[in-house]
Amino acid sequence: MKPNPVHGALFGLAIGDALGVPVEMIKRDVLKKDPVQDFTNYKGPEGYKGHQQPVGTFSDDSSLTFCLAESLCNGYNLNDIAARFVQYFFEGYWTAGGVVFGVGKSTEDAITRLRDGVLPERSGNYDVNCTGNGSLMRILPLLFYLRAYPVGMRYHMTRQVASITHGSIQTILPCFYFLEFALEILNGSDRQTAYGNTAKTVSTFISNLEPGQQHMDVLTPLINEDITQRSEGSINSIHHAVHTIQAAMYCFMKTNSYTEAVLMAVNLGDDTDTTAAVTGGLAGLYYGFDAIPEKWIAQLKRSNEIKDLGDRLTKAMGL
Ligand SMILES: [Mg+2]
Repeated sequence: MKPNPVHGALFGLAIGDALGVPVEMIKRDVLKKDPVQDFTNYKGPEGYKGHQQPVGTFSDDSSLTFCLAESLCNGYNLNDIAARFVQYFFEGYWTAGGVVFGVGKSTEDAITRLRDGVLPERSGNYDVNCTGNGSLMRILPLLFYLRAYPVGMRYHMTRQVASITHGSIQTILPCFYFLEFALEILNGSDRQTAYGNTAKTVSTFISNLEPGQQHMDVLTPLINEDITQRSEGSINSIHHAVHTIQAAMYCFMKTNSYTEAVLMAVNLGDDTDTTAAVTGGLAGLYYGFDAIPEKWIAQLKRSNEIKDLGDRLTKAMGL
């Protein structure tokens, strides 16, 4: 296990998010000509408005990740996680600078239902056509809690926490794959071993799920193929969970440093903040907190409070 895995994951994710915020929805071919290489006040093509946030501002991906991390400091409690999501969306809790922006429709609707008294077991979008990456982007801290449990419990908790906003199987399975892969990394596996072991664990587990809950095809490129052999053109970086997990794994497996991984993810374009958040969480965990450029840590909004949160979660999780 790398030192400070919690800090590596939290900062890795939030910095990826913050690098992606200024160019969210910009197309890949545009970024190819003028790639993001740093925190930047990106002006973009003519007519591009973006989110107009100060440099180092993270978005909903990180805010909801921090809500989950805060909650886990006090144990595993779905109602408490949900209450913090409500506090984020309606009161600006754990925002970078008080502004809530870029929140997806399923997340907004689910949090509104939570505010109106719907239980977290029922608040999510359970429509079979729910495909968004809004649960994948915020699920990583759960890794530190579920690592102590057998795979059946890990799946159960992943599904519960994911379903607060996204309850469809095609959004749950990418979260499950992501946390299983991250667990391999946390336990010290090298990347290739982690890739092979995760494919085995996940495919065996999914094949034993009830019919209708299997949807193995969602993860086929990660389970039956070597994602690094794909062409970049076949990697989709839009906001579907199944695409985001593939794009993040592609960037993580194809590069050899935290910096290279997150910049590759941002420069895939489209859902830049989330692709880079998911990639950055993994890369931060793998390369370690100390491998993240210091200037990015310093430029990230609320850096000291994120450090403190990392300290508290590390202690609470016995890491
Ligand atoms: Mg976002």
